[in-house]
Amino acid sequence: MASVTINKAGKHYGAFEALKGVSVDIADGEFVILVGPSGCGKSTLLRMIAGLEDISSGEISIGGRVVNDLPPKERDIAMVFQNYALYPHMTVAQNMAFSLKLKGVPKAEINEKVNRAANILGLESLLQRQPRQLSGGQRQRVAMGRAIVRDPQVFLFDEPLSNLDAKLRVQMRSEIKELHQRLKTTTIYVTHDQIEAMTMADKIVVMRDGVIEQMGSPLDLYDRPVNTFVAGFIGSPSMNFIEGNVTPDGFKTSDGIILPLQKNQVDATTYGVRPEHLKLDPAGIPAEVVVVEPTGSETQVVMRIGKQTVVGIFRERVAAKPGETLKVTPDLSVIHLFNKEGKRVN
Ligand code: ATP
Repeated sequence: MASVTINKAGKHYGAFEALKGVSVDIADGEFVILVGPSGCGKSTLLRMIAGLEDISSGEISIGGRVVNDLPPKERDIAMVFQNYALYPHMTVAQNMAFSLKLKGVPKAEINEKVNRAANILGLESLLQRQPRQLSGGQRQRVAMGRAIVRDPQVFLFDEPLSNLDAKLRVQMRSEIKELHQRLKTTTIYVTHDQIEAMTMADKIVVMRDGVIEQMGSPLDLYDRPVNTFVAGFIGSPSMNFIEGNVTPDGFKTSDGIILPLQKNQVDATTYGVRPEHLKLDPAGIPAEVVVVEPTGSETQVVMRIGKQTVVGIFRERVAAKPGETLKVTPDLSVIHLFNKEGKRVN
């Protein structure tokens, strides 16, 4: 296990700057998730840590050792790819043993390590099968097994769950988290799925256009996003953003509707409220119902406050029909205010 330090790491592809000098400190044993929309540079950063891409500027250290010029095999990392990259003609056991065999590890030791990994991952009965005889989730486990047998200082995961169906993704998510709790190996994991980031990470790094927008614990990011980008990216359904400005009476929307504020002194042009922080309240603000989506456990309602569309999630069942009016009140203790540059001001 080792810490990983990324210090002003930059990446150019010709004139294009894919990473603009990003810095992240990853503690020994930490589970860090790099998340962001397509093209934000998260895979590039992971590949630079792995040694699969050159580092154009800055420094990356693993376990206190600068690795900028070290080839991948000398970095003591193991990477799990999105497509698993299993050898189709080899059995599960052979796939897991392969890297150790290349290193000349004695056969008895290889067997012991493969059996231990198979035991951790519940693959014991599948060791003699070939990848084509496995389900997607089982292949994913073999790819992880191949990483585990190497007992690396750092695990790197590149969107490992994106080829799985929704149910399996949820299951593998908790398996990977449990694996990390058992092995406590420093892990860096790339995904574009904010739910994966929220549910698995100790620390989330939110990226956009080659820069880090915010990093912190999942709930820090959820509770105190620094800007509208992070606020909109973390949380599903997304935070509602209502445009307007602060007046002595409260936040006046662009349609002239007054939303309550705790204090009026900030200069905000966007009022952010998460769907679950809108409450049904007979004394609340009128909202015209557009669509009602019951999920059984809760009801999601798309509404219009003036001309602006918002989504509410209510624990109770909502009988309202499209065109009818509901009354809602935001929970003032958890609203978010942003200025015209999109920066948080409360
Ligand atoms: P995705 O989720 O789509 O994989 P990402 O955040 O992982 O996106 P990267 O793959 O890191 O994004 O790419 C970052 C940027 O660098 C993108 O704009 C991409 O087009 C560009 N890029 C990546 N590889 C190359 C390359 N070999 N040559 C030129 N540009 C590249």
